[in-house]
Amino acid sequence: MHNILTFDLEDWFHGNFLFDEDEKSYSESRVLEPTMRLLELLKETGNQATFFVLGSIAEKYPQLIEKIADNGHEIASHGFLHRLVYKLSPKEFEDDLQRSISVLERLAGMKILGYRAPYWSIYSDMKWVFEILFSAGLKYDSSVYPFKTYLYGSNQAPRFQYSVDLKEENMITEIPPSVLEFLKRRIPFCGGFYFRLLPYRFVRRGIKKINQKEKKPAVFYLHPYEIDANKTKNSKGLKNNFILHVNVKRAEKKLTRLLNDFSFISMRDYLKSSE
Ligand SMILES: [Zn+2]
Repeated sequence: MHNILTFDLEDWFHGNFLFDEDEKSYSESRVLEPTMRLLELLKETGNQATFFVLGSIAEKYPQLIEKIADNGHEIASHGFLHRLVYKLSPKEFEDDLQRSISVLERLAGMKILGYRAPYWSIYSDMKWVFEILFSAGLKYDSSVYPFKTYLYGSNQAPRFQYSVDLKEENMITEIPPSVLEFLKRRIPFCGGFYFRLLPYRFVRRGIKKINQKEKKPAVFYLHPYEIDANKTKNSKGLKNNFILHVNVKRAEKKLTRLLNDFSFISMRDYLKSSE
């Protein structure tokens, strides 16, 4: 069974919501090196992925986006600026989305089909967001985290792919990141901070459980800065520092094992294969 691999392409300081836009513009950028390394790893292990690209990063590194697309990966939208969607008005959200889609379609030479909100900041009851995604021509979303944290997510959100029904029988397919369910408790494990924190064997067992017992693909996510051991460590706040930097040194090795142990495809190709 194929699993689904996704990367959110942004800079390391986008991972910390305490940074404001001004500070982001003069912080040291660390995008190229870890993303090139990811592309090499994907080539070496024969896997394909969806890159949810932040529009402002695409403007800054146009050749990188072209290269990702040339390597056969899917380019999707991570918005233009890295802002919490639940704090935006519908108009602000729509403008940010359109701005990202136009730069990404121009650089990637493909139609943008999917969206992932910065900080997973969409809840399943925010119907207006899904209406705007549909109007913008998108087919799927991957932003509703089925586990509650201090910043995002809900323990009531569905764990697996579902349709969000909209006006006039329109719909958007929601593909959430994978979490495990054990004795009615949910355990995030399949990406980001949780992937770095947990032992690899736990992650491997989790994906096998989802594939074999629940007969579903696992949805994995990571950011390039999460395998970047050379990045600076001047993040804000103890908790955010820990979330951003824990076990980054070991993450590349873990990711390599994961990419060898399982077979991954993009969201676009997964949806095409399940039509
Ligand atoms: Zn992000």
